[in-house]
Amino acid sequence: MSRIFSGIQPSGSLHIGNYLGAVKNWAELQHKYESFFCIVDYHAITVPYEPADLRARTADMALGLLAAGLDPSKCTLFVQSMVPEHTELAWIFNTLTPLGELERQTQFKEKASKEQSVPAGLLNYPVLQAADILLYRAELVPVGEDQLQHLELSREIARKWNTRFDPPKQAYFPEPKGLLTPARRIMGLDGQAKMSKSLGNTVELLEDPKSIWEKLKPAVTDPKRVRRTDPGTPEVCNIYHLHKAFSPTETVDHVAVQCRSAGWGCIDCKKVLHESMEKELIPIRARAAEIAANPAKMKKDLAAGADHARAVASGTMKEVKEKMGLA
Ligand code: ATP
Ligand code: MG
Repeated sequence: MSRIFSGIQPSGSLHIGNYLGAVKNWAELQHKYESFFCIVDYHAITVPYEPADLRARTADMALGLLAAGLDPSKCTLFVQSMVPEHTELAWIFNTLTPLGELERQTQFKEKASKEQSVPAGLLNYPVLQAADILLYRAELVPVGEDQLQHLELSREIARKWNTRFDPPKQAYFPEPKGLLTPARRIMGLDGQAKMSKSLGNTVELLEDPKSIWEKLKPAVTDPKRVRRTDPGTPEVCNIYHLHKAFSPTETVDHVAVQCRSAGWGCIDCKKVLHESMEKELIPIRARAAEIAANPAKMKKDLAAGADHARAVASGTMKEVKEKMGLA
């Protein structure tokens, strides 16, 4: 069975972009692959944060992931800092990664532009990500589109390490490939940038219906639909793309017709989207309530996940160190 690995930062609340681009897919893939899913708290400390918030967010993220359908009896769900081998392998990969490659990563440039003083950890973020994936020698990585550039670097790091330290086969680490969903890049409701925990432009997966509606009402649509009677172009509208992710095909087709003919105003279209979202989100909220009622079970599941991850990770590190002449 092929292995998959993916991670999510506890840098804020799990949102519908994370869910549609990655986590919903994880819940399906856990039945087909040997799956490792990681709450990457060492990644989240590369930007300013409060320790007490981080602990709470890590627990909230675990709750959200379980509510979204991850099943600890089917997959290995764990917190990165509970498995120290991640940072150990990251150091090794740091010695192989060209500085120039790190400096040209889009995510680094975006996040660094917001900081007065840029920590080296932000630059080295993709090296730790390569270690996360390769520690489990995962072949597939289900992520959103924004992570493809980092993944390309993970492949390059795997190739470099294999060439240098795994003669003659040069194949110890597989070159991991990305797995995308049709909703690979969900935009924020302001229509300005991708939906991101750190940008505050999100709809949270566990947000209450009223608050979701308050966000949907002013959300940006086709900018050329100024008046109610102006016909629209669904393809340029974020709401239409959310329909594609949440509504049944007949509704999506109907939305397109109503938009192009100005049969519906944008508010009508948003009401239908809200209903479709509720259909998917109500069972997730119900599961979240059940999980929240038993925090001891969640803690136990995460500890068991970390134990299993550590067993695999320490096996990899042993072989890596042997091949590299380390103690
Ligand atoms: P941050 O702003 O702190 O970087 P984020 O919202 O980008 O948070 P990550 O933890 O960096 O979330 O990413 C978790 C997963 O969600 C990754 O696989 C990423 O590709 C995916 N993802 C993040 N944002 C989106 C989006 N807007 N659309 C689709 N997938 C997304
Ligand atoms: Mg991100």
